[in-house]
Order: sequence, then structure tokens, then C-alpha cells
Amino acid sequence: MAERRHAGRPAAPGVVVGPLVVWRPANAGKAARAEGGGEVRRLAAACAAVRRDLLVLGDQGDRLAAEVLEFQREFLADPEFLGAVEEAMGRGVSAAVAVREVLDGHIAQFRAEEDEYFRARGEDLADLRDHLLATLDGRRDPPPALPEGAVVVASELTPSRFLALDRRRLGGVALEGGSVSGHVAMLARARGLPMVVGLGRVAAAAGEAALDGDEGLLVLDPSPRTRARMAARRRSLEEERRSLPARSAGGYRTADGERVEIRINVEDPAALDEEAVRFADGAGLVRTEFLFLGRPELPDEERQYRTYRDLLARFAGKPVRLRTLDIGGDKPLPGITEEEANPFLGLRGIRLGLARPRLLETQLRAMLRAARHGPLEIMLPMVTLPAELEAVRAMLGRLREELASGGEPVPLPPLGMMVEVPAAALDLERFSADFFSIGSNDLVQYVMAAARDAAGPVAELLDPLHPAVLRLVAEVVQVGARRNVPVSLCGEMAGDPAALERLLALGLRSISVAPSALARAAAVIGRFGAEDHGGRS
Ligand code: PEP
Ligand code: MG
Repeated sequence: MAERRHAGRPAAPGVVVGPLVVWRPANAGKAARAEGGGEVRRLAAACAAVRRDLLVLGDQGDRLAAEVLEFQREFLADPEFLGAVEEAMGRGVSAAVAVREVLDGHIAQFRAEEDEYFRARGEDLADLRDHLLATLDGRRDPPPALPEGAVVVASELTPSRFLALDRRRLGGVALEGGSVSGHVAMLARARGLPMVVGLGRVAAAAGEAALDGDEGLLVLDPSPRTRARMAARRRSLEEERRSLPARSAGGYRTADGERVEIRINVEDPAALDEEAVRFADGAGLVRTEFLFLGRPELPDEERQYRTYRDLLARFAGKPVRLRTLDIGGDKPLPGITEEEANPFLGLRGIRLGLARPRLLETQLRAMLRAARHGPLEIMLPMVTLPAELEAVRAMLGRLREELASGGEPVPLPPLGMMVEVPAAALDLERFSADFFSIGSNDLVQYVMAAARDAAGPVAELLDPLHPAVLRLVAEVVQVGARRNVPVSLCGEMAGDPAALERLLALGLRSISVAPSALARAAAVIGRFGAEDHGGRS
């Protein structure tokens, strides 16, 4: 049978090939009708059974798992919760209807919270509700028996269902729905288990599966070639991960001892891999869009401040480069961005920030206040003209004075810019930035006149190794060296081994990559040696 590929989103890194197990637990849907006086006893028995389950699941020696289950146990034991359920039952509804009614109310409240932590708690409660309802209905949905190294496919998985799977035999998890930042993805990352979410319907019942948690890919009935490739990748990934602590000790270096900085890109702190945080030289690009996109309302200054401060704490003294909001283009924000015929060429990034100064000022104030807590850097996206950078510098000065006169003195963090618009790359001498970071994803699309989300023949033009792109990268590296301004590159290109070698050969000595690409980048840098400086200028 020919292999079938399903593309989703990477949720936990790693690669596995193993037997496919599809788990479709019965839906805890309709609740039973009232059955008179027996309902109270049924409820008590179901609560006791669920409590026992949670105690058994809790014994897994893993902090996050213990936290989730403890929260569920406490909720279940809360007299207020039981009181509310019994009160609803007093109106004549069944235990199941009452449980659903009461818990749905709490779940809705948690889900409406802005804070990721509380939203995840909403998922934990939905998990508890389904567990209780299934128990009340006598449908206990035992987890499937797993063969060694199983790749489990499910539509969604709740934390308790995930934890019920045999940990020693589980090889990876592939979800048709799911979220990158939910508790199940966090548990998978904490356990080093590859996971992919958002695959859409997977029509399969059995067979073999290859799961790539770095690329976000599930391959059913993989061909011998795919299998061999995945197995080889798995071996080399394991080797690279094992050698990461040793490579990072004393700083990442090329084979001939030159120091190369490797930072990581942060999409969403809730989904950030702890190991990558520990071994990276810092955060080279924090895409602050996660605070704005998919939220019911804009984050206020306080919420932003707390998020930036917490991120600095996680990086424990290492530099954190926060990019101001980069919406527009392929990242519209309803109510803020406008419909444009050519959104990639329109009001995006810093252009939008300067056109909507209140939005930008709120973000800059939050960043300035957070800068008291660690080495924070501010980076601007889509800068085209020196005047844009200067306008933000002036804004920062003014905001800092305001904070000082309000009794809150703050340091002035370095202010740098993404180099992703060809006009800026070609005219870099005129920009007085404190650092440059090449945004190769956008630079390639603007140099090649090929949209970064293009498909088909246009997508083939998106070649970061095209001589025109490399010439600009080389030019930026040279301007930085001449003027003593640090230069980095934070586009996907730095995570690709072949492209990284070219970048090193051009003299680049600082990159920022996706967390899942850290170990590989470290290995490529470690191999880059004295005999191979061919293209270096
Ligand atoms: C880039 O353009 O290369 C980049 C790193 O930023 P983003 O992908 O967020 O546009
Ligand atoms: Mg960009």
C-alpha cells in the first residue's frame, strides 16, 4: 500500500516509527434521565471511582502530571462543587445532567480567562467532567493495550486519558485536533515523546505509522525508504540531543574554536521546551503575536509586562529579544488590521505600530518595565526606513521619562531591527540600530517576489540559498562587522543544516532557531571546521 501523509503542527519534538493504535473513546455525550433516590448514591460511587483513578494515575513521578491530577482531585472533593450538583439534582435532573450543568459553568469561566494557565485549567475540568460522566454511564473507556513503541492517534486527548496510556510502550501521539499549548502537549514535551496536533481526520485503523514531531508530520504505512530515513534521523537526533550539554558547556564553538551564539525563537512561552531554554544562549526572537492573536481582547500593559517579566525569569539571566507586534501580512488581527489587496506589502509590522501608536506604546511601556528584571532587548519588525527606527527610539525615550517621573525608573534596553526588507538590507549603513537580525523568511519572499505562503511553482522560488539572498546576507554581515553592530539571523534558514553551513561560511556567528532545531544547529556548528571556509568572505 502506498504511504499516506498527513500534515499537522509540531507539538513535541522527536521522530518515531511504530505500530499505529487508533483510540476513539466513546463520547461522554448524552446524560441519563433521573432515576429517583438512587441518583445520589450513584453520584457518590462515581466520584469515589474517579478519585481512585486519579490517585492511581498520579503516581507517575512527573511534576506537571501530579499538578493536573491534584487540581482535579481537589475540585472533586470540594464541598461547594458537590453541593451545587446535589442542588441541581434536587430540581429533579439526573446526576449526569447535574454534573454537566455545574462543570460546564466552571469550564466556560476558565476558558474565558486570558491567562494561558487558567485556560489550561479549563481543559483539566473538561477532562474531569468527561471522566465523571463516563463513569456514571458505566462507560469507563479503558485505554487500549499498546504494542511496543505505539503511535497513538486520537481526535483529542485529555490529560487523564493521556496519562492512562502505558508510558513504557507509548512511542508518540498524533491528534486530529488538540493544541500545541495544552497540558497534553506539555506532558509530551516533558516526557520527550514526539507529538503532532491539528492533523485533521485520519482515516486508518491499524498498520504502521511514522511520526515526525519536528516537522509536524504523520505518515501511514510508510514506505521502506521513509522508514529508513526516519530511523536514521531518529538515531542522529538522539545523538545530537545527547551531546547538547557538552557542546553548550563553555559556549557553542566551531571545530576550530570560534564562538557561535545560538538562541531560540519563542512562538508561545506556554509551549516552550525546557531543555531548549536551558541550553540556548537566550531568546533571539520572541514573536509577541501570541499575546494578541486568537484572543477575545487585546492584552493590556500589565498582562504584557507580566508575560515579558516571566519570560526573562525563565531564561535566567540570558538575553531575551522581544519583537514588537508583527501583525498584518499573513497574520491579520480582526479589528486592528484592515483588508488590503496585497497584505504582505501593506500596513504590517512597525508600519502598523507607527500608524497605531497607542498599541505600540502600550507594548513598549510593558517592555521597558520588564527590562528591570533582566537583559531584555527590543526588536522592530519590517523596518524599511531609518526614520521608522528613529521614531521608535524617540518614543522609547519619552515613555522612559514618563515612567521615571511617575516614580518608576527603568533602564533603556538595546533597540534593534529585523533586516527583512531588501531596501533596509541594501541601505543598512544609514540605520543606527543596536543590533541587526536577518529575517530570512520575509527577506526571501521580498527578494524573490514569491509569497512565503505560496504553493506550487511559486513556492519553488522561495530559495534561501539563491545567490541574490546570500549576497544580501553577506552584505549585512559585513556592515555589522565594519560598524561593530551585532548581526544575527532568526529565520527558518538557520535551522536547515545545509543553509547554516553557508551562513557560517559567510561569517555569521549568531543565529536564532526553533527550539526543536537547537541540537541539530549545535552539531552543524561543531562540525564546521578549519578546512572548509571556502565561501567565506
Ligand atoms: C522572518 O521573517 O524571517 C522572521 C524570523 O520573522 P517571521 O517569520 O515572524 O516573519
Ligand atoms: Mg518576518
